[in-house]
Amino acid sequence: MSMAAPASSDLEPEIIVVNTRRVMCDGGGALGHPRTWYEMGEADFVECRYCDRRFVLCDSGDDIRA
Ligand SMILES: [Zn+2]
Repeated sequence: MSMAAPASSDLEPEIIVVNTRRVMCDGGGALGHPRTWYEMGEADFVECRYCDRRFVLCDSGDDIRA
């Protein structure tokens, strides 16, 4: 992954590592959106529909792929 020169000031999607497949997002206060719960289901991550945050499951039991 190459990082180009940051010409724009777009907000990058925030990645939040969690331990459970059920997560809650409320936008962190600044962005402000209704408190919403998400279920990852069979996936290892879920993205917030409001603020594009990505919640990634921290599965410390499996091998880590570099
Ligand atoms: Zn959110």
